[in-house]
Amino acid sequence: MDVLPCGHVARASRVRLCRHLLGPDGPPDDIEYVRVLTGRGIEYDLCCRTCDRAGTAPELLVVCEGCAFRAEEDETGMVGWRGRPEIRERPEGHRGEPARLRLPPALRRPLDWAALPGTDRATYLFLTARRDLVRFDALSGRFQRLATVSVPDDTVERPARRVEISLRLRPHLHVSRSGRYAAVVNDHGSRGAVVDLRTGRTTMTLDGGHYGTHIMPFALAFATHQGRDVMVHRTASNRLDVSDPATGDLLTARDATRQDDPEGRRGEHHLTYWHGALRISPDGRWIADNGRLGYPGVGTTVWDLRRWLEENPFESEDGPSRRSLCVRDYAWNRPVCWVSESLVAVFGIGSDDETLLDGVRVFDASTGTETLTFPGPSGDVLFADGRRLYSDGDEGLQIWDPSTGERTASVPGFHPRRHHPRAAELAAIQDGDLVRLPTAGRP
Ligand SMILES: [Zn+2]
Ligand SMILES: [Zn+2]
Repeated sequence: MDVLPCGHVARASRVRLCRHLLGPDGPPDDIEYVRVLTGRGIEYDLCCRTCDRAGTAPELLVVCEGCAFRAEEDETGMVGWRGRPEIRERPEGHRGEPARLRLPPALRRPLDWAALPGTDRATYLFLTARRDLVRFDALSGRFQRLATVSVPDDTVERPARRVEISLRLRPHLHVSRSGRYAAVVNDHGSRGAVVDLRTGRTTMTLDGGHYGTHIMPFALAFATHQGRDVMVHRTASNRLDVSDPATGDLLTARDATRQDDPEGRRGEHHLTYWHGALRISPDGRWIADNGRLGYPGVGTTVWDLRRWLEENPFESEDGPSRRSLCVRDYAWNRPVCWVSESLVAVFGIGSDDETLLDGVRVFDASTGTETLTFPGPSGDVLFADGRRLYSDGDEGLQIWDPSTGERTASVPGFHPRRHHPRAAELAAIQDGDLVRLPTAGRP
């Protein structure tokens, strides 16, 4: 081995540095730097802010792995990316063209809407401005009011301390896997209600806790356990429970004194974590939670839902299957989606929301390892159907192979907002029309 320009006899790093990021103990404290993409995958070099602003290509030095590691040890100095990553293409087209159907006037600007997953038929549920839940059949164009939902007033405290955080209450509609139950909750609030769509009756009212929940969506997800619908929902900022949506029966009873007591003394299973958006794996084994670790860290965490329900009611707090996959600052509402039974895709490459590179990181829930990272997917939704990953870019739908990271198709002008897994289609409301496009398969 030769002496490298950094002065060390060691293995050379793939990452090159400008000279200002070199030093015996790493770069000077609080130096800011950018990652300069080389155009090979997501490989990059590093240069300081001064070199970045100089307007000429900086001189980049080959350094040892230790020097490259020290240059990036404090990631808070990373202020952005330059250049473009290499997006790998494997064009294969896609099934069909977007089909448009005019929606009835009351459904054109719903408060929220969702796929009705009970059947293979392309049916959707709409929450109208009058709080009606209306079933819409995209094949026949027929619609029917199933229930009217009343969500109690939300009195959550809303400290307006950071303007970049959306504090606006937003009704969010969730539907059970059988299509029988719906929940309407206030994202960035604390209240909600569950409705039996067959009878129209409200079966549960929900209180998701108040402390610090104004930043987070209301953590709720339906799953199937032993052939019946179950509902995971937040019952305090740092506590999730599972209930039977038909009766409200609690399925994760656990001794509250072993968690936290009413005076706030921390119990044996105390969790410092504000639960966020939940995603259940296709076969119902795993749950992913995009929650807050404090401020401003957002941690994507997984645990075994079956174990939680069958063996250990504290699994969601500190069970052995609970794993943190990644932590990113301020990434409150970035999408997460399951791409296979145990692989979950998390949007964004990097450690701070302001400097995330468009792309996804794929993790194995059973080991916590990152199995693939690839650039390209952007926007605020991610869907997967077992074969392909779907994202909504500026130009429209982008389709990816989540096992290789290659882009296989794009559909300009179509901006999907919902996925109907059983009907194998993506859907959007555009200019008062329901627009639908077939996906590659079913999960
Ligand atoms: Zn420099
Ligand atoms: Zn070195």
